[in-house]
Amino acid sequence: MAPGPHDLLLTNVLPRGHDTPVDVRVEDGKIAEVGPDLTAPAVETLDGGGRPVLPGLVEPHLHLDKALLGGGDGTLQGAVSATAEAKEHFTHDDVLARAEDVLRRALRHGTTLVRTPVDVDPTVGLTSLDALLELKERWAGVVELQVVAFPQEGIAARPGTDDLLVEALRRGADVIGGCSYAEDDVEGCREHVRRVFDLAARFDVDVDIHADFAAGPDDPRHTLATFVADVTAERGWGGRTTLGHVTTMAGLTTDTRRGITERLAGAGVGVVVLPPTDLYLQGRAAPVAELLDAGVATALSSNNVRNAFTPFGTVDMLDVTLLAAHTQPFGTTAGLDRLLDRVTAGAAAMLGTGGHDLAPGSRADLVVLDAPGADHHTALLDRVSRRLVVSGGRLVAETVTTATLQAP
Ligand SMILES: [Zn+2]
Repeated sequence: MAPGPHDLLLTNVLPRGHDTPVDVRVEDGKIAEVGPDLTAPAVETLDGGGRPVLPGLVEPHLHLDKALLGGGDGTLQGAVSATAEAKEHFTHDDVLARAEDVLRRALRHGTTLVRTPVDVDPTVGLTSLDALLELKERWAGVVELQVVAFPQEGIAARPGTDDLLVEALRRGADVIGGCSYAEDDVEGCREHVRRVFDLAARFDVDVDIHADFAAGPDDPRHTLATFVADVTAERGWGGRTTLGHVTTMAGLTTDTRRGITERLAGAGVGVVVLPPTDLYLQGRAAPVAELLDAGVATALSSNNVRNAFTPFGTVDMLDVTLLAAHTQPFGTTAGLDRLLDRVTAGAAAMLGTGGHDLAPGSRADLVVLDAPGADHHTALLDRVSRRLVVSGGRLVAETVTTATLQAP
């Protein structure tokens, strides 16, 4: 049989856990074989040059609609207000252009799977959502996008939002989002969560809730993680529910935190920790090691890129990995390995996608780090570029950097 457009032989790359480089043979967009001296006559061959390779990187929580807006005063409320104002001026083309700019940056860094919460409310209507659904079509096969209909400003607190969420799901939103601190009082916040799960059941979609995003536990609207765990269990939505932030947890005692992580793990609720925003706005982030030790599915993501919530960001998941490693105890090679799982296979599994492993049967999304002869840890610490990015067996990005030194 003649080779197809999604067949490929990637030679001489070092997967994690290997001492010497191997070859990766791709057939019909999937990894067929990983091993030494593979052959595939007449198939396109890419030479990895002895560089480390990772599976495609994953951004499980990236606000493409609100990226590259600038602004803000360094507080959560200031960020919500600044963004609410900016949203009044959003147009389809404007959202599309900013989102696509960010997606290109993400791809250059090796990200091939993105879940994107998109604001849905009476200010912006479905303008951003429609733009992101169009982008999802346009980028299919290169970067997989999961679009979340997200009520950032609340549901009851912004009358009209509920109808818009329903229409968003009818139009093809993949996931229902929630913002469990965005109502006027704690009972309103609980009702918000119940409504999100009602919509999840009605449209048979996963749940993705922004929760517990405060510096301390004083405001009860920011202490609802265990309530979400209980509703998840009641509704049978374990393995299909994800929380973003859970920053409040960082200010609690170890025993209280253990109580929360056990409930999350028991209910099958995953957590996405967002170090760039959590550290900027709250000075702390949920404890990744404790979540993992308790058995909670945990991932990392950028959240925002260069807006009022986070004025920084390169949309590079390896930068986010390093930021997490700088601020939590992941400085050892074993620690870094644990984090690398959180931005590859672990994150993909959380999104219900799977197949982001370097193993036969996985989708052939491969990222070759530009560090010939080095291991993954050195490549990570050196913040090297991505020499090759392969998505579904096709080369989709290539970055060549050169440095010339005139030194002794
Ligand atoms: Zn977010």
